[in-house]
Amino acid sequence: GGCKWQELRYDEQLKMKEKQVRDALEHIGKVSTEWMRPICGSEKIFHYRNKMEYTFSNRRWRTREELEAGAPNAAALGFHLPGLFDKVLDIERCALQADPSNAIRLEARRYALEHGLPFYDARTHEGYLRTLVIRCSGTGEWMVLLVVAQDRPEWLFPMLDNLKRAFPQITSLHYIVNEKMNDSYSDQPVTCYYGKECVEEVMEGYGGAPALHFAIHPKSFYQTNAPQAYRLYSFVAEFADLNGTELVYDLYTGTGTIALFLARMCRHVVGVEYVEDAVTDARGNAQVNGIGNAEFYAGDMAKVLDAAFVAQHGRPDVVVVDPPRAGMAEKVVWQLLEMRPKKIVYVSCNPATQARDLLMLAEAYDVRRLQPVDMFPHTQHVENVAELILRQ
Ligand code: SAH
Repeated sequence: GGCKWQELRYDEQLKMKEKQVRDALEHIGKVSTEWMRPICGSEKIFHYRNKMEYTFSNRRWRTREELEAGAPNAAALGFHLPGLFDKVLDIERCALQADPSNAIRLEARRYALEHGLPFYDARTHEGYLRTLVIRCSGTGEWMVLLVVAQDRPEWLFPMLDNLKRAFPQITSLHYIVNEKMNDSYSDQPVTCYYGKECVEEVMEGYGGAPALHFAIHPKSFYQTNAPQAYRLYSFVAEFADLNGTELVYDLYTGTGTIALFLARMCRHVVGVEYVEDAVTDARGNAQVNGIGNAEFYAGDMAKVLDAAFVAQHGRPDVVVVDPPRAGMAEKVVWQLLEMRPKKIVYVSCNPATQARDLLMLAEAYDVRRLQPVDMFPHTQHVENVAELILRQ
């Protein structure tokens, strides 16, 4: 049902998302939502994404009408279709990212077709062009990353030069040669072809604190709706309600954004994250912002977070968790029950798995405040922040 959302008015979308959270919490989590706050809508409902990822494919998705009219197979640059791994919906105009995002994508496609560069085939693994990532930041920088399947500088460099020439807005141009069968490139080395290594994002500080600066590498995760991320984190800070004396754990910390957002309000913060590069970024970001009371560790949460880790770093007063869509591993939930922080702030991008985890945590925790947040207008995704208090 990806299309349905585009036809709904924004207030209708918000109502549906709120209901989605309510239903999951009530039915799966057995949590009362009587006191749930109204969903926090996004100020920007178009052009809010700072990162778009487009797939090149030699199998353009065709409508039934097109197929009946005998439309031939063609190349496409756009979005994967749910459930059809090898088909790509060609995009003419996407309203989720500001200009010149559309122009960059269209120019990449035009150039590739004009020069006969083969689009990748996800079935036969033939072809050359794989992925185009376009990132922008609130500071007006633009980063483009092109992922190709073979080491062919004679094809690659002229295509990158063309983009660079056509779009002086591009401050950072990168490429990855991904010769693997699958599209994921997070484990592949990235080369900076032109300009800066990173884009910079600036986030307002909480409660009058100085702004935070984040350097974002081409493969690093950063919340895609930046102004709304500030509001999400503000709810986290409000629920955490820190007074400067606490030890805080920020689990699934990514590039350390929540940890650094809270660092100035607590005694010490410890962030844990799976992706090594993200942890390197988190440490760098701490340094850039002159934050000395934040430490970061890399590893799988279920393995890192054990009794020895708690013994070494201290029992946290407050734990913030922000797991991926799958939610927390059972072992991590047990570890939280073992650790017994006075408070847990659970940020979730999937109410169903959050509800499942809350049901387990109900053994020792009561849910106090609930705040759904819409980070992604015109999509089915919804974020929810829950405050959990240790039962006395
Ligand atoms: N809190 C961050 C990132 C949230 S995204 C922010 O607001 O920007 C979730 C993060 O969890 C990702 O960075 C992902 O790499 C990490 N992650 C996923 N599975 C993990 C695991 N098993 N152990 C540790 N981190 C994990």
